[in-house]
Amino acid sequence: MKYPLPIEKLMRALQRLPGVGRRTAERYAFDLALDWEKEELDLLQGALSDAKEHLTTCPICGALKDGQECFFCQDTRRRKDLLAIVATAREVFALEATGEYRGQYHVLGSLLSPLDGRGDERLRMAPLFSRLQKGEIKEVVFALDSTLEGDATALFLKEQLEPFSLSISRLAFGIPVGSSLEYVDGGTLARAFLGRATF
Ligand SMILES: [Zn+2]
Repeated sequence: MKYPLPIEKLMRALQRLPGVGRRTAERYAFDLALDWEKEELDLLQGALSDAKEHLTTCPICGALKDGQECFFCQDTRRRKDLLAIVATAREVFALEATGEYRGQYHVLGSLLSPLDGRGDERLRMAPLFSRLQKGEIKEVVFALDSTLEGDATALFLKEQLEPFSLSISRLAFGIPVGSSLEYVDGGTLARAFLGRATF
């Protein structure tokens, strides 16, 4: 099927979004082109350019910031001795949303992927070392995916952080909240067993 060129171009752009296939892109493209008012489209356009122009990453923690100050590094109410290491800037917000964590963050920028040849040159290690050298951080939590890449990265980090005397932990893996044991796969159950906590 041949779409008018502007629709086709819009669809191609939208399809680059995660989880958007051709059908969804088609729906979005028609909706935007036919139903949205000019002012609404201008707002969207403005929001997109703002996101590109005004968002930067904090040189210390690697989280996103929209002004001079980093929301996480500059907040004096957060614990200074506790550091969570995450792979992406998005995961910072996932941890924040739990409301359980009030420490510092360090965004690695990537995970190691030995199979894809993605090595440690992609990880933000230098800023991590300079933070740890200051000696303020005493405890580090690896908040990394429960995947091969996450495991490889955790092992690598553990080795790298050896020279600093830190208490290191990794987020527990286990049974999803609200699920019944009989529906949990063997691998998850095994890890939940290993990571069992005192009750
Ligand atoms: Zn920061």
